[in-house]
Amino acid sequence: MSRDPRYDILFDPIQIGPVTAKNRFYQVPHCTGMGWQRPRMLADMREMKAEGGWGVICTEYNSIHPSSDDLSHPSASLWNDSDIRAHALMTEKVHAHGALAGAELWYGGIRTANMMTREVPMDLASYPNSTGHPFQTRAMDKSDIRMFRHWHRKAALRAKEAEFDIVYVYATHGYLISNFLNPHMNTRSDEYGGSLENRTRLVRELIEETKEAVGDRCAVAVRFSADETIGEDGVPIHGERREMFEMLAEMPDLWDINIADYSLEMGVSRFVKEAPLEPYMDFVKSVTTKPVVTVGRFTSPDTMVSQLKRGVVDMIGAARPSIADPFLPKKIEEGRVDSIRECIGCNVCYSGDSIGVPIRCTQNPTMGEEWRKGWHPEKIEAKGSDGKVLIVGAGPTGLEAARALGARGYDVMLAEATRNLGGRVTRECALPGMSEYVRVRNYREQELLDLPNVEIFRESALTADDVFEIAPDHVAIATGATWRRDRFNGETYVSVAAEGTSPEILTPDDIMDGKLPNGPVLVYDEDSYYMGGVIAERLKEVGLEVTIATPSDHISHWAGMTSERWRVRTHLMKLGVETIVSHSLTSFDGETASLYCEYSDAAKPLSVRSVVMVTQRTPNDVLYRDILAKADELPFTLKRIGDCEAPAIIAAATYAGHKYARELDTIVDLDEPMKHDRIDVGDTPFSEV
Ligand code: ADP
Ligand code: SF4
Repeated sequence: MSRDPRYDILFDPIQIGPVTAKNRFYQVPHCTGMGWQRPRMLADMREMKAEGGWGVICTEYNSIHPSSDDLSHPSASLWNDSDIRAHALMTEKVHAHGALAGAELWYGGIRTANMMTREVPMDLASYPNSTGHPFQTRAMDKSDIRMFRHWHRKAALRAKEAEFDIVYVYATHGYLISNFLNPHMNTRSDEYGGSLENRTRLVRELIEETKEAVGDRCAVAVRFSADETIGEDGVPIHGERREMFEMLAEMPDLWDINIADYSLEMGVSRFVKEAPLEPYMDFVKSVTTKPVVTVGRFTSPDTMVSQLKRGVVDMIGAARPSIADPFLPKKIEEGRVDSIRECIGCNVCYSGDSIGVPIRCTQNPTMGEEWRKGWHPEKIEAKGSDGKVLIVGAGPTGLEAARALGARGYDVMLAEATRNLGGRVTRECALPGMSEYVRVRNYREQELLDLPNVEIFRESALTADDVFEIAPDHVAIATGATWRRDRFNGETYVSVAAEGTSPEILTPDDIMDGKLPNGPVLVYDEDSYYMGGVIAERLKEVGLEVTIATPSDHISHWAGMTSERWRVRTHLMKLGVETIVSHSLTSFDGETASLYCEYSDAAKPLSVRSVVMVTQRTPNDVLYRDILAKADELPFTLKRIGDCEAPAIIAAATYAGHKYARELDTIVDLDEPMKHDRIDVGDTPFSEV
């Protein structure tokens, strides 16, 4: 297939200072949870995006000096020659596909406590650490500022030596340089504080010095915020930003524009849809002739074209869409738009950095596995035998297994008990704000259309006898999991129904099946991710009085990893949902839910008619166990995969399905199932270690 001419504009080259990008697809800097610790995994992951057609591929944030250390959040670094060699792994691979490589230089200031390096953090004044660590910054004096500029320059030179084509001055996201710009924070009385001229001095010096150091061969990009403070969603408060831009407009070679509200810029799809930054961009292009890029979780080529044609941006910035589909540009170029694996906006990719582990993606199970498992998002080994495969259950696990096995060339039967494919995503996407989760199903269903070797059997609830009768060579049980009505008390599962009563205790499955509580309701959340909040919202929507309680100190605690916890709570409070933290539910008699404080054990009785337990899930593994019970020696291989094996997040389900498909008919070394990227001590003798 060939490219739709409507999309030609996306493939026009563009000059960025001394370098030229081959097209308008720009992977902006994004964290990966790999950083300086896992350079090989990182290099192969970035290479995949270059192979997939992105014109520019950037690193994550690169610390320029040990006094800017973000661990346990893994940043990259440009501290010494070893870093140059590590980055060169990436730039070489990116260049091999004709893409440009960009390095984002970063200094954390108030946001870094330097827990690993133990260096004293510096910012423009003595301020408390903004991420909650009990450390304060040292107020930078003039010699500190000179030293900082010197480190920035040295890091830029290292980036050049590592063969980067674009070097960033990173002046946003609440890090050091942006604080100098901030009129509220920067109350310095020297030439770096006070007037607009003074507050922009540092960024001007850095642009000039970076250009002087590397500008002969590298473009200098500036990451900058288009608004001054957080307004209502989509309503920018530009403050003096326009003036600032006008002062700096022609200095860099490229503007990479962000906004003050990270929870909007990086918003989850529950609250934020495609292109949310557009209202903030209205003046940017009119004040600079330099190329402008911004993000917007762009997955639709029509939206991308519209952004370019209307002059909102010159390049389409993307982090998440490039994670969900590293081959997005290639697919547009080759007229395969229907095959784009669209990001669902769940921010599970971001959780890697939050937790300090390598990136993963709900839609793209190969993300982060390029080096250690050799997985490619678009290529897969041909089948290892002519064996026929039966997959039972068409949730995200079964669908991904069927898609990937189909791509390997296997004859696959996919049996699904219900009329609809998609399992939990089809059910969950009907809950408030969750509609984009259906993309997990839609992408796979679309791909299966082109795989005649995969036969789908709907409304086919299989029993063990059915499976033996079908007589396949391989069987994968992907029958999912069911929400429990009880709770885990730390040792065992216990019912909360008060003795001698049978109160209304519902689960998220009941609500998704359309059952509603018959009066004021308590949503009791031990799952701590999105489900509790979403169920509370659904019940509020139908006019019920709703309280959400959790034993955690936070509502939707784990959603902090995906950066949505704050929005979830604000949203629930705005809706009028009562919130109770640090309380466990021990019993419910139909009229009173007995909550107890996690710290004092003080009782907090709550009058409700119904409780929805959002606690744990039971694997639906009866079929698996029935099959095992039928014969000592099975005439087929048997595996349970996904939620049926161990209930988890959707990203674990697509990964499980993919892994099953990859490994069928291959020999997996169970002792060493993957390569281990680590700092290699080489031949150092034990006595010197
Ligand atoms: P996962 O997240 O692991 O994919 P889901 O719960 O999303 O799990 O999907 C499991 C799917 O399996 C559901 O669509 C369910 O209808 C289907 N299923 C469960 N039991 C059977 C069975 N015996 N035969 C066929 N399909 C089944
Ligand atoms: Fe998008 Fe979720 Fe994948 Fe991140 S993890 S790229 S938000 S689908």
